[in-house]
Amino acid sequence: MSDNCLFCRIARGEIPSRKVYEDDDMFAFHDINPVAPVHFMLIPKHHLVSLVEVDDSHAALLGKMLTLAPKLAREQGLENGFRMVINSGKGGGQEVFHLHIHIIGGGNIPPMVKRS
Ligand code: AMP
Ligand code: ZN
Repeated sequence: MSDNCLFCRIARGEIPSRKVYEDDDMFAFHDINPVAPVHFMLIPKHHLVSLVEVDDSHAALLGKMLTLAPKLAREQGLENGFRMVINSGKGGGQEVFHLHIHIIGGGNIPPMVKRS
């Protein structure tokens, strides 16, 4: 836990969110500024900055996130598929420095990166 981390505070219920799912280790909530009809985030409750900081000790946690995400996507109506995005570090465009998976879908999902 990190006192000043926005997503830690959301997971603790100190900052309101539109919750999608919660268990002992995980929390999921809708993005405040969605880019598609369905756009929510899955985070570990344990404060972890990003994939840049990950090591072998995080394998079980990451495995749980990757297996939970499709279940939550289905529950949110994304039976036909979804996009998952993990912005990682400043070089990856990350803005909130608590590891999160964006789960996005419903509507027209464009190619991942715009080619010039
Ligand atoms: P990233 O750029 O990958 O770090 O994504 C951060 C995401 O957090 C953005 O999509 C924001 O819209 C979202 N966000 C920021 N503040 C909140 C909040 N209070 N509740 C829900 N989502 C938020
Ligand atoms: Zn945090």
